[in-house]
Amino acid sequence: MANQAKAGKVLISFDDGLEDNYTVAKSILDEFDLKATFFVSTGLIGENGYMSFDMIEELKSDGHRIGGHGHKHINYLVSNRDEIMKDLNLCFDYLSKELKEKNPWFSYPFGGRNPYTDKICRDLGFKILFSSSLGSFAELNELSVIPRIEVWNSDTIMTLKRKIQGKYNWLNKF
Ligand SMILES: [Zn+2]
Repeated sequence: MANQAKAGKVLISFDDGLEDNYTVAKSILDEFDLKATFFVSTGLIGENGYMSFDMIEELKSDGHRIGGHGHKHINYLVSNRDEIMKDLNLCFDYLSKELKEKNPWFSYPFGGRNPYTDKICRDLGFKILFSSSLGSFAELNELSVIPRIEVWNSDTIMTLKRKIQGKYNWLNKF
């Protein structure tokens, strides 16, 4: 793994803004001096099971990046244009005004995206967009939508290593 890892870098991200991002993930990231991106659904901040505004502020002041994951975590592929515009506007406003994030990144709830939603996001000012499609990427590109590799709490260390190396076969497991 060490030889493979030297060739590239890994970007760690968490979706949804769940409370365990703060109570569990934060201390593990701190232990290994790793920084991550937390994509939060801005309309759920402070709700039961989700991080509070103060928790998010602390992550930010620790050097982590806070990105958007919609406002109410709706699937844009089954929403009308007004709903999509409203949700993205509220999310962007919260990130830029309340959390003072400049050029925030965005990850799509349910991975629900299409060229129309990509255009709205970019027009609003979201700098880099992330999907839930499987894959790795060579560089952060403002015009592409970045794929990701999902990690589960049931993954073994071996599975995790293979995912990071890009060797994981999702159909046959290995
Ligand atoms: Zn989500």
